[in-house]
Amino acid sequence: MEGKVYLVGAGPGDYKLITLKGLECIRKSDVIVYDRLANSNYLKEAKPDCEFIYAGKESSNHVLSQEDINKIISDKAKEGKVVTRLKGGDPYVFGRGGEEAEILVNEGIDFEVIPGITSAIGGLCYAGIPITHRDHASSFHVITGHLRDDQSKTINWNALANNKGTLVFLMGVSNLESISNNLIKEGKDKNTPVALISWATRHNQRVVTTNLENVYEVAKNENVKSPTLIVVGSVVELREKLNFFEKKPLFGKNIIVTRSRTQNSILVEKINDLGGNPIEIPTIKTEKIENNLVLETEIKEISKYTYLILTSKNGVDIFFDKLSEMGLDCRVLSNLKICAVGSSTSDELKKRGIIADIVPKRFVAESLYEELEKKINKEDKVLIPRAQNARDYLVNKLSEICTVKEVHTYRTVVDTNRKEKILDILNSKEIDYITFTSSSTVKNFIEIIGRENINLLGGIKVISIGPITGDTINDLGIGCYKESDVCTVNGVVDTIIRDC
Ligand code: SAH
Repeated sequence: MEGKVYLVGAGPGDYKLITLKGLECIRKSDVIVYDRLANSNYLKEAKPDCEFIYAGKESSNHVLSQEDINKIISDKAKEGKVVTRLKGGDPYVFGRGGEEAEILVNEGIDFEVIPGITSAIGGLCYAGIPITHRDHASSFHVITGHLRDDQSKTINWNALANNKGTLVFLMGVSNLESISNNLIKEGKDKNTPVALISWATRHNQRVVTTNLENVYEVAKNENVKSPTLIVVGSVVELREKLNFFEKKPLFGKNIIVTRSRTQNSILVEKINDLGGNPIEIPTIKTEKIENNLVLETEIKEISKYTYLILTSKNGVDIFFDKLSEMGLDCRVLSNLKICAVGSSTSDELKKRGIIADIVPKRFVAESLYEELEKKINKEDKVLIPRAQNARDYLVNKLSEICTVKEVHTYRTVVDTNRKEKILDILNSKEIDYITFTSSSTVKNFIEIIGRENINLLGGIKVISIGPITGDTINDLGIGCYKESDVCTVNGVVDTIIRDC
């Protein structure tokens, strides 16, 4: 098979600013060679056996030389592999994308280029700066600030200084003094507004505004570092009005989301949308109980039941997968009332064609019991397929009224693989919040980090999804900062927003 190389623009950093075509390339590649400025979360989209090669690239700290990168890309393609060369922003805006493409042509390797949103435009946008505006600038220039001796001469400073358009310098922080001096010397007004945008479109975006005369001093005092965009022009004034990104309610907040690996990541998604930085820490993984003959037996006799209770998305998946494995579908449940604890459980049921009859107001067993208590009588038969280590409450209370059959369909086990990484994150002292959405997650999190490391949570606000999880947090001596009023992911998010 012939190999192929895709030069893919990863966009400026915000995870969702990649093209559909770019994402498609990542998903089908055998090898991904990626840069420092390409959001590394894209790698999670790759095939399980995809090979990742980090090419580095900070102006002074290349992990691989350009020659090494070229050779790796062509060699892998010649082996018949599909290669994605993932580059920050747009592949052809600096970063030597054109040279990489030329080499592929010279070597006779099939290739395609997938454009990306360049930081030189998209980065300004997230800082509230339109690169053109009828009242301010009717053109723009994107200029390298990485001034090698010969390049400094090739830049026509006079033309730039006397051009009314917006000037955007990339790779220019270490040459700010020379950039501003050259522009002022050639006639640019020293009061021209300047914005320095670091890590544009990311949760850690930081913008400093000043003017051309002071920019060097200000950048030094504010410790502005690469990667930074230098924007020169009166469009910078619009930032005050148009800055939507930094006004998001969770902007700049680092929030640990502890979760089970198979749980869906609605919380992560919401935090992202609200401008925060969700740091996902899987604490538990669920293991399906294989060859579940007990479940099969109960499904065969499903007609004797009057109620089916499902308590998690995972529980729904396993139950319905078993049905179809047995050649059955949801019609066998037509005589049952179906209860779902939690909105993600009822959503999952919906995907399986079932609208739950009962979804308790609060998404805890107690609330379901309160509702069922009024409806069931001793003739009822309730089937509860759920986790092995679930709380006894529901089964015990319902058994006082009617017949209850609990079937274990999965178990949760602690995921200890990432202890060191978690300790590094806690040690960074950069975390604002940590969220817990179940008691077992709290217990498992402590088991992973070790009781001796609980003190690392000092200074981090601990948010619980509800009272039961909150009690567990307090019992374990961590100290729950706030409990959400409604036991849902939205409730957790609202609690954090109110606190911010
Ligand atoms: N191809 C890239 C640019 C590569 S050159 C693009 O189209 O965006 C690398 C320079 O781009 C950095 O030194 C910095 O000046 C700028 N840059 C890239 N991403 C950035 C970001 N998220 N925030 C600020 N500057 C960025």
